[in-house]
Amino acid sequence: MERGNQVLMNTYARQPVVMVRGQGTRLWDLDGREYLDFLAGIAVCNLGHAHPAVAAAAARQLQELVHVSNLYYTLPQIELAQRLVDLSFADQIFFANSGAEANEGAIKLCRRYSHEKFGPGRYKIICATNSFHGRTLATLSATGQEKFWQGFEPLLPGFTFVPFDDLAATAAAVDEATCAILVEPIQGEGGVRIPAADYLPGLRRLCDEHNLLLVLDEIQVGLGRTGKLFAYEHSGIRPDIMTLAKALANGLPIGALLVTAEAAQGFVPGTHASTFGGGPVITAAALAVLDILARPEFLAEVAAKGEYFLAGLRSLQDRHAIVTEVRGLGLILGLEIDGDGVPLVAACRDRGVLLNCTQGNVLRFLPPLIVSRGEIDRVISILDKVLAEL
Ligand SMILES: *Cc1c(COP(=O)(O)O)cnc(C)c1O
Repeated sequence: MERGNQVLMNTYARQPVVMVRGQGTRLWDLDGREYLDFLAGIAVCNLGHAHPAVAAAAARQLQELVHVSNLYYTLPQIELAQRLVDLSFADQIFFANSGAEANEGAIKLCRRYSHEKFGPGRYKIICATNSFHGRTLATLSATGQEKFWQGFEPLLPGFTFVPFDDLAATAAAVDEATCAILVEPIQGEGGVRIPAADYLPGLRRLCDEHNLLLVLDEIQVGLGRTGKLFAYEHSGIRPDIMTLAKALANGLPIGALLVTAEAAQGFVPGTHASTFGGGPVITAAALAVLDILARPEFLAEVAAKGEYFLAGLRSLQDRHAIVTEVRGLGLILGLEIDGDGVPLVAACRDRGVLLNCTQGNVLRFLPPLIVSRGEIDRVISILDKVLAEL
């Protein structure tokens, strides 16, 4: 760890643990200590660590063909795009390498689509306060949290911020320069914020009235996390553009832009590209992931385990006055406390449970979707002790 601090740039407040191995919901550190992982690499390893089907698909493809660039077609990329089209609202896909890069592509697509369709001058995107969309300069500019902006100004112009889950404020922010609305269906980093049921339908109506593109960032909450394959399915509406990344290849880097045929017209050859995007190994791995994640039985289990977990968290709220709220949908859950959550994260880690704290006082639970009820019980009982000691 000391050597790491010398040679790695100082960009993360890392936990003092060196991880060396993972299997399912378990991780092991260099000293052989075992951890129950209720973070899943921040909603990435949805199928758990070292999933055999994903490992086999990637290994097979590594020996077959690794990279040729997007100057050529490759089969796994076409197959993955077809699967995503079949499973979602989308007609066409663009592959990138990360969440930020997918959102960057979405921002570019909104601007260019609007420019081609309605002429110059429509470039503003309405975003939500407390949102998180990535760390590149454009996605940082779309992220509604000032703490991430400090020292990087001037940001990219053209982003307007309104409170999350506030339809009236969003409607009031639309002007003649607006081209799109970009939100997370549930704010993850923003503290596991679940909007009212009429929020996404209201945004859809607003977009239809004003010819705006509705962009959903499902990088954290898509791909089974909420108990449906995509979070927008809970709302009954369809976006024009959706971004995915985190869990799509269960830990290998990938990002994707899913779009309607109409919105896809915003790009033509030469307008957007990525050298590595949608490479054969990553897309072969992602196909193996979707084979499992998209099964209705699998998703139904996620929903049921999510309700079980939420009931457990509610019982903690009943017993501990410091817990001010619990919330969640599927297996993204938050427990808000009246105080600093960071010591709780350390106390849980000392007892072999990994989780994360966001916004200072919200414990965020993002277990692998393969988690068992027994493992949920264990985490609830450890939290019970840790909260009692507080
Ligand atoms: C993680 C995340 C991103 C950024 O993804 P990276 O792969 O870290 O660039 C963007 N939006 C949301 C909602 C995220 O959770």
